[in-house]
Amino acid sequence: MAEAAAARHYRRGGARRVTASRRLAPRAARPPAPLSWQRAGSGGGGRAEAALRGMEPAGAPPQGCGPAREAEEPPGSPALPPEELQGGQPARQSPGEEALPAAAGRERGCRGAGPQGPPGRAARGRGRRAPGRRGGEEGVRAARRPRVTVDSSKAKTSLEALKISLRQLRWREFPFGRRLPCDIYWHGVSFHDNNIFSGQVNKFPGMTEMVRKITLSRAVRTMQDLFPLEYNFYPRSWILPEEFPLFVAEVRMMKDSDPSWKPTFIVKPDGGCQGDGIYLIKDPSDIRLTGSIQSRPAVVQEYICKPLLVDKLKFDIRLYVLLKSLEPLEIYIAKDGLSRFCTEPYQEPSLKNLHQVFMHLTNYSLNIHSGNFIHSDNVNTGSKRTFSSILCRLSSRGADVKKLWSDIISLVIKTIIALTPELKVYYQSDIPAGKPGPTCFQILGFDILLMKNLKPMLLEVNANPSMRIEHEQELSPGVFENVPSPVDEEVKVAVIRDTLRLVDPQKKKRKDTQCQTLEHVSEANEELLDAGAAERPESDSPRSPEPGLPSLCLKQVFPKYAKQFNYLRLVDRVAALFIRFLGVKGTTKLGPTGFRTFIRNCKLSNSNFSMASVDILYIDITRRWNSMGIDHKESGMCLQAFVEAFFCLAQKKYKSLPLHEQVASLIDFCTQRAKEVTTSIPCPSS
Ligand code: ADP
Repeated sequence: MAEAAAARHYRRGGARRVTASRRLAPRAARPPAPLSWQRAGSGGGGRAEAALRGMEPAGAPPQGCGPAREAEEPPGSPALPPEELQGGQPARQSPGEEALPAAAGRERGCRGAGPQGPPGRAARGRGRRAPGRRGGEEGVRAARRPRVTVDSSKAKTSLEALKISLRQLRWREFPFGRRLPCDIYWHGVSFHDNNIFSGQVNKFPGMTEMVRKITLSRAVRTMQDLFPLEYNFYPRSWILPEEFPLFVAEVRMMKDSDPSWKPTFIVKPDGGCQGDGIYLIKDPSDIRLTGSIQSRPAVVQEYICKPLLVDKLKFDIRLYVLLKSLEPLEIYIAKDGLSRFCTEPYQEPSLKNLHQVFMHLTNYSLNIHSGNFIHSDNVNTGSKRTFSSILCRLSSRGADVKKLWSDIISLVIKTIIALTPELKVYYQSDIPAGKPGPTCFQILGFDILLMKNLKPMLLEVNANPSMRIEHEQELSPGVFENVPSPVDEEVKVAVIRDTLRLVDPQKKKRKDTQCQTLEHVSEANEELLDAGAAERPESDSPRSPEPGLPSLCLKQVFPKYAKQFNYLRLVDRVAALFIRFLGVKGTTKLGPTGFRTFIRNCKLSNSNFSMASVDILYIDITRRWNSMGIDHKESGMCLQAFVEAFFCLAQKKYKSLPLHEQVASLIDFCTQRAKEVTTSIPCPSS
């Protein structure tokens, strides 16, 4: 058991030290006898899913051991025929076809010679070398350009992967910071740094708060209220302690209506990570036995009992997603991710195995302490593998990996759509428009569990996914040393390097200059040029400023698929109204006057809804949200409370419609009214 792994001797960088004994997931109270169950519905039902069906995946799955195919086809492109997926021949790349990730190359039997080239250790020195013939003039031109400067002084555990990336890009690193401004600031933990007035930071303000278990659950629930079918990829969750009575009541009701339902729940402390404090229960009353829910808020969630197994083991997927910009929304997904495996064969939860963390929790940080943990020295085996290797196996078994990828893309876009409204509130507060400040981008880690039927379920989002590219290895009993981890390096270096390529400030400058020289070109021609540039793979571009670099491992999914998902962005539009009426720059909460102004400007009060009722609504909702103890720094109405009030008003005004139509109608109504009152302030976009 994991507990046995406590207090070990470690040796890092030559220094020996003893780790503190770590408390792992506590044992759950003894619940009643279990039975298997599975409640999460299969298959998405929404419009977006329908539109995405048949969409080519963002990350080209390795296509089994068949020919490589680029993932940039338009939605609706036909799936690969099964014989192509299962053929055993190495792929021959057709002209114009983008290279597969190195992992996929190896899957196809091109060991060590993937066309994308190893972005890992083998490539470490590569950045220093003069560009090869292929680079030629481009390389010389690139060498003359001022190099992009990166402050890595706060990179923490991502430092090693960042350094390799910077070497490959031949950018300039400032490991101890710099007195002059840098182009990019790479932070290992969070956004906060009041001394940055320009450039770009790799964190968004408020992201850490937004992806905490409780905040994420609330944000997703708001979307589930509006679009229940579209958001069925997140397990049903309750927030403790405030929703404990609701949890008890709902579970009782469901058991009454279906006596064969024998659920299991997973309790996760808010703000916890690496499986810390997580435990499984069979009945709501088991929570009481563990005591401290008042002192440690948590999310309790339906436990997914029937996960997809590989080698009889449960595993989850860590996918890297780049939020490149909030306004306009730009999302990229990495072609490859990691699969983290449990280390004991999976059994459905029962009284006997409920406490077995190595069977139920896929966290690397826990399973590394199991005697069964296998370090991978290639990317297709062991307890941590590339996701592409799993896809390869699945497709060789005939699974529809293309649909799986489109479901994953859909899950990622929808989750980010759920997060953006509040992120925008944080953003305008930390970096008010018109004041000097950096722009932001961020790599997020999406943890996804595949159900037996291949439906992806979101477990959580990490604002700070581990970018470590080494692992601990036991040299002799109890003595550990950090050694490079090829699988981590393969995936993570590519993600960091390509994130940097996408946010490259010089590329933007070059683009601007090109635009100026093209001013004489007609508008129609310009559009054509832009579209061409967006579709052309970086390394294939005849003017590529990055000779010798592989094609990007990050693929744009938004705005690329914006048309299919824009109808979900209702809360974004509510947030735009909220921000508009916030008034004072730098705040995140709406005062009573701001709320009254909103009601007045939008002409929402009438004989049935007096201003006194408006005040009561404001006080009731604000008080309840503030009593949940989320943020005591400011008084007033937070965005979530405003959204609740807005839904309330929408239901009042448009009685018989479904909620999302009520809300959409009220947004249109308010936007129109607010426009009439003043045209000087820009209205929320529709
Ligand atoms: P942490 O941030 O502590 O890692 P997670 O939400 O990622 O918390 O949960 C830890 C692990 O527990 C996951 O990696 C997964 O293996 C398992 N897990 C979490 N939620 C569920 C769920 N609803 N059903 C099944 N397994 C889950």
